[in-house]
Amino acid sequence: MKIEILGCSGGIGPGLKTTTFLIDDTLLLDAGTGVELLSMERLLGIRDVVITHGHLDHIIGLPLMLATIFDSHKKPVNVYAEPAVVSALEQHIFNWTIWPDYTQLPEQQPIINLHPIEIGDVLTIQDKTVEVIPAEHPTPTVGYLINNGHNSFVFTGDTGVNDKLWPILNQRKPDLLIIDVSFADESDKLARTSGHLTPSLLTGQLEQLEHNPRIAITHLKPGAEDSIMQQCRRLLPQRQIDRLHQGEVITLD
Ligand SMILES: [Zn+2]
Ligand SMILES: [Zn+2]
Repeated sequence: MKIEILGCSGGIGPGLKTTTFLIDDTLLLDAGTGVELLSMERLLGIRDVVITHGHLDHIIGLPLMLATIFDSHKKPVNVYAEPAVVSALEQHIFNWTIWPDYTQLPEQQPIINLHPIEIGDVLTIQDKTVEVIPAEHPTPTVGYLINNGHNSFVFTGDTGVNDKLWPILNQRKPDLLIIDVSFADESDKLARTSGHLTPSLLTGQLEQLEHNPRIAITHLKPGAEDSIMQQCRRLLPQRQIDRLHQGEVITLD
Protein backbone atom coordinates (compact mmCIF):
# COMPACT_ATOMS: atom_id res chain seq x y z
CA MET A 1 0.00 0.00 0.00
CA LYS A 2 1.38 3.38 -1.03
CA ILE A 3 0.50 6.42 1.09
CA GLU A 4 1.48 9.78 -0.42
CA ILE A 5 1.61 12.63 2.05
CA LEU A 6 0.37 15.64 0.07
CA GLY A 7 -0.27 17.69 3.21
CA CYS A 8 0.20 17.12 6.94
CA SER A 9 0.47 20.57 8.49
CA GLY A 10 -1.81 22.19 11.04
CA GLY A 11 -1.64 25.41 9.04
CA ILE A 12 -0.43 27.00 5.83
CA GLY A 13 2.79 28.66 4.75
CA PRO A 14 5.57 28.20 2.21
CA GLY A 15 5.82 24.45 1.60
CA LEU A 16 3.02 23.67 4.05
CA LYS A 17 -0.25 22.04 3.03
CA THR A 18 -3.09 20.80 5.24
CA THR A 19 -4.17 17.20 5.75
CA THR A 20 -4.31 15.31 2.44
CA PHE A 21 -3.19 11.70 2.02
CA LEU A 22 -3.44 9.84 -1.32
CA ILE A 23 -3.52 6.06 -1.10
CA ASP A 24 -2.60 3.91 -4.10
CA ASP A 25 -3.36 6.89 -6.40
CA THR A 26 -7.13 6.39 -6.20
CA LEU A 27 -8.32 6.83 -2.59
CA LEU A 28 -8.05 10.25 -0.98
CA LEU A 29 -8.05 10.51 2.82
CA ASP A 30 -9.09 14.07 3.67
CA ALA A 31 -9.03 16.81 1.07
CA GLY A 32 -6.99 19.68 2.47
CA THR A 33 -4.86 22.15 0.57
CA GLY A 34 -2.54 19.28 -0.48
CA VAL A 35 -4.99 18.54 -3.29
CA GLU A 36 -3.45 21.58 -5.05
CA LEU A 37 -0.31 19.54 -5.75
CA LEU A 38 -2.09 17.04 -8.02
CA SER A 39 -2.15 17.36 -11.82
CA MET A 40 -5.43 17.07 -13.72
CA GLU A 41 -4.56 13.50 -14.66
CA ARG A 42 -3.94 12.54 -11.04
CA LEU A 43 -7.11 14.32 -9.86
CA LEU A 44 -9.09 12.32 -12.41
CA GLY A 45 -7.63 9.12 -10.97
CA ILE A 46 -9.27 9.69 -7.56
CA ARG A 47 -12.35 7.45 -7.25
CA ASP A 48 -13.16 7.73 -3.55
CA VAL A 49 -12.66 10.35 -0.84
CA VAL A 50 -13.00 9.59 2.87
CA ILE A 51 -13.38 12.64 5.09
CA THR A 52 -12.60 12.71 8.84
CA HIS A 53 -14.57 15.88 9.65
CA GLY A 54 -15.89 19.12 8.26
CA HIS A 55 -13.18 21.54 9.39
CA LEU A 56 -12.01 23.62 6.46
CA ASP A 57 -8.40 22.42 6.53
CA HIS A 58 -9.68 18.88 5.75
CA ILE A 59 -12.28 19.66 3.05
CA ILE A 60 -11.21 22.80 1.21
CA GLY A 61 -9.58 20.78 -1.57
CA LEU A 62 -12.80 18.92 -2.39
CA PRO A 63 -14.88 21.75 -3.96
CA LEU A 64 -11.81 23.04 -5.78
CA MET A 65 -11.00 19.57 -7.11
CA LEU A 66 -14.57 19.03 -8.35
CA ALA A 67 -14.59 22.33 -10.23
CA THR A 68 -11.26 21.42 -11.83
CA ILE A 69 -12.27 17.96 -13.08
CA PHE A 70 -15.91 18.82 -13.85
CA ASP A 71 -15.53 18.90 -17.65
CA SER A 72 -13.31 15.86 -17.90
CA HIS A 73 -14.48 13.34 -15.33
CA LYS A 74 -16.08 10.10 -16.53
CA LYS A 75 -17.51 8.59 -13.35
CA PRO A 76 -18.87 10.12 -10.13
CA VAL A 77 -16.49 10.44 -7.18
CA ASN A 78 -17.69 8.73 -3.99
CA VAL A 79 -17.35 10.86 -0.86
CA TYR A 80 -17.73 9.22 2.55
CA ALA A 81 -18.33 11.16 5.78
CA GLU A 82 -20.44 11.15 8.92
CA PRO A 83 -24.07 12.32 8.43
CA ALA A 84 -23.36 15.64 10.19
CA VAL A 85 -20.46 16.27 7.82
CA VAL A 86 -22.53 15.32 4.76
CA SER A 87 -25.18 17.85 5.90
CA ALA A 88 -22.52 20.48 6.50
CA LEU A 89 -21.11 20.00 3.00
CA GLU A 90 -24.61 20.25 1.51
CA GLN A 91 -25.69 23.28 3.57
CA HIS A 92 -22.49 25.28 3.84
CA ILE A 93 -20.32 24.43 0.82
CA PHE A 94 -22.42 23.04 -2.07
CA ASN A 95 -25.19 25.62 -1.62
CA TRP A 96 -24.75 27.86 -4.70
CA THR A 97 -23.44 30.68 -2.46
CA ILE A 98 -20.07 29.35 -1.38
CA TRP A 99 -19.81 26.94 -4.32
CA PRO A 100 -22.04 25.31 -6.97
CA ASP A 101 -24.11 22.36 -5.78
CA TYR A 102 -22.06 19.53 -7.19
CA THR A 103 -24.39 17.00 -5.61
CA GLN A 104 -26.83 17.96 -8.42
CA LEU A 105 -24.41 18.66 -11.29
CA PRO A 106 -24.42 17.58 -14.02
CA GLU A 107 -28.12 16.76 -13.84
CA GLN A 108 -27.92 13.35 -15.54
CA GLN A 109 -25.15 12.01 -13.32
CA PRO A 110 -23.86 14.28 -10.54
CA ILE A 111 -20.09 14.42 -10.14
CA ILE A 112 -20.20 13.30 -6.49
CA ASN A 113 -22.09 10.72 -4.52
CA LEU A 114 -22.18 11.53 -0.82
CA HIS A 115 -22.26 8.42 1.39
CA PRO A 116 -23.10 8.81 5.11
CA ILE A 117 -21.03 6.54 7.36
CA GLU A 118 -21.08 5.71 11.08
CA ILE A 119 -18.46 4.82 13.64
CA GLY A 120 -18.01 1.04 13.58
CA ASP A 121 -18.78 0.70 9.86
CA VAL A 122 -16.31 -1.35 7.86
CA LEU A 123 -16.52 -0.11 4.28
CA THR A 124 -15.21 -1.97 1.29
CA ILE A 125 -13.62 0.61 -0.97
CA GLN A 126 -11.79 -0.68 -4.03
CA ASP A 127 -9.47 -3.46 -2.79
CA LYS A 128 -9.40 -2.22 0.81
CA THR A 129 -11.45 -2.27 3.96
CA VAL A 130 -11.90 1.06 5.67
CA GLU A 131 -13.02 0.89 9.30
CA VAL A 132 -14.56 4.03 10.78
CA ILE A 133 -13.14 4.64 14.27
CA PRO A 134 -13.99 7.22 16.95
CA ALA A 135 -12.14 10.51 17.49
CA GLU A 136 -12.49 13.32 20.07
CA HIS A 137 -12.75 16.77 18.54
CA PRO A 138 -15.17 19.72 19.03
CA THR A 139 -17.11 18.77 15.87
CA PRO A 140 -18.25 15.30 14.69
CA THR A 141 -15.01 13.58 13.72
CA VAL A 142 -13.82 10.07 12.94
CA GLY A 143 -10.55 8.34 12.19
CA TYR A 144 -10.00 5.54 9.68
CA LEU A 145 -8.22 2.22 9.77
CA ILE A 146 -7.31 1.16 6.25
CA ASN A 147 -6.35 -2.42 5.45
CA ASN A 148 -5.48 -3.95 2.07
CA GLY A 149 -5.44 -7.52 3.36
CA HIS A 150 -1.68 -7.47 3.94
CA ASN A 151 -0.94 -4.22 5.73
CA SER A 152 -2.87 -1.63 7.61
CA PHE A 153 -2.55 1.84 8.97
CA VAL A 154 -4.68 4.10 11.08
CA PHE A 155 -5.20 7.84 10.79
CA THR A 156 -6.71 9.18 14.01
CA GLY A 157 -8.25 12.27 12.43
CA ASP A 158 -7.95 15.45 14.44
CA THR A 159 -8.25 14.27 18.03
CA GLY A 160 -7.54 15.04 21.64
CA VAL A 161 -7.51 12.44 24.41
CA ASN A 162 -9.49 9.51 23.01
CA ASP A 163 -9.63 6.47 25.28
CA LYS A 164 -12.01 4.64 22.92
CA LEU A 165 -9.30 4.33 20.30
CA TRP A 166 -6.76 2.12 22.04
CA PRO A 167 -8.77 -1.08 22.59
CA ILE A 168 -9.56 -1.05 18.85
CA LEU A 169 -5.90 -0.63 17.93
CA ASN A 170 -4.87 -3.34 20.40
CA GLN A 171 -7.13 -5.73 18.48
CA ARG A 172 -6.26 -4.64 14.94
CA LYS A 173 -2.53 -3.98 15.47
CA PRO A 174 -1.96 -1.61 12.52
CA ASP A 175 1.57 -1.37 11.07
CA LEU A 176 1.50 2.42 11.13
CA LEU A 177 -0.23 4.95 13.38
CA ILE A 178 -0.63 8.48 12.02
CA ILE A 179 -1.70 10.64 14.96
CA ASP A 180 -2.48 14.31 15.57
CA VAL A 181 -0.06 16.15 17.85
CA SER A 182 -0.78 19.75 16.93
CA PHE A 183 0.74 21.60 19.86
CA ALA A 184 3.83 21.56 22.09
CA ASP A 185 3.37 21.02 25.83
CA GLU A 186 3.49 24.79 26.45
CA SER A 187 0.12 25.07 24.65
CA ASP A 188 -1.66 22.44 26.76
CA LYS A 189 -4.72 24.59 27.41
CA LEU A 190 -5.19 25.50 23.75
CA ALA A 191 -4.71 21.84 22.75
CA ARG A 192 -7.39 20.69 25.19
CA THR A 193 -9.95 23.32 24.17
CA SER A 194 -9.36 22.76 20.45
CA GLY A 195 -9.36 18.95 20.66
CA HIS A 196 -5.76 18.12 19.79
CA LEU A 197 -2.90 16.28 21.52
CA THR A 198 0.41 17.53 22.91
CA PRO A 199 3.50 15.33 23.41
CA SER A 200 2.59 14.77 27.09
CA LEU A 201 -1.02 13.91 26.25
CA LEU A 202 0.24 11.54 23.54
CA THR A 203 2.56 9.88 26.05
CA GLY A 204 -0.37 9.22 28.39
CA GLN A 205 -2.41 7.83 25.50
CA LEU A 206 0.32 5.50 24.25
CA GLU A 207 0.49 3.81 27.65
CA GLN A 208 -2.67 2.06 26.46
CA LEU A 209 -1.12 0.83 23.20
CA GLU A 210 0.19 -2.71 23.55
CA HIS A 211 2.17 -3.16 20.32
CA ASN A 212 4.98 -1.10 18.84
CA PRO A 213 3.97 0.23 15.42
CA ARG A 214 5.72 2.97 13.51
CA ILE A 215 4.23 6.26 14.74
CA ALA A 216 4.01 9.34 12.52
CA ILE A 217 3.03 12.69 14.02
CA THR A 218 0.79 14.91 11.91
CA HIS A 219 -1.09 18.26 12.01
CA LEU A 220 1.83 20.09 13.71
CA LYS A 221 1.21 23.82 14.02
CA PRO A 222 3.57 25.86 11.85
CA GLY A 223 6.49 27.07 13.98
CA ALA A 224 5.98 24.46 16.71
CA GLU A 225 7.27 21.47 14.70
CA ASP A 226 10.74 21.25 16.28
CA SER A 227 9.49 21.65 19.87
CA ILE A 228 6.78 19.04 19.34
CA MET A 229 9.22 16.48 17.95
CA GLN A 230 11.90 17.15 20.60
CA GLN A 231 9.31 16.67 23.33
CA CYS A 232 7.92 13.51 21.70
CA ARG A 233 11.38 11.95 21.39
CA ARG A 234 12.31 12.87 24.97
CA LEU A 235 9.08 11.50 26.44
CA LEU A 236 8.85 8.40 24.23
CA PRO A 237 12.39 7.08 23.68
CA GLN A 238 11.13 3.50 23.41
CA ARG A 239 8.71 4.24 20.55
CA GLN A 240 9.48 4.37 16.78
CA ILE A 241 8.33 7.93 16.37
CA ASP A 242 8.87 10.48 13.63
CA ARG A 243 6.98 13.33 12.08
CA LEU A 244 5.12 12.99 8.88
CA HIS A 245 6.72 15.00 6.08
CA GLN A 246 4.93 16.54 3.16
CA GLY A 247 6.07 14.87 -0.07
CA GLU A 248 6.93 11.65 1.73
CA VAL A 249 5.66 8.42 0.17
CA ILE A 250 5.20 5.64 2.69
CA THR A 251 5.08 2.11 1.33
CA LEU A 252 3.64 -0.62 3.53
CA ASP A 253 4.46 -4.12 2.29
ZN1 LIG B 1 -10.29 19.83 13.11
ZN1 LIG C 1 -7.39 19.97 11.18
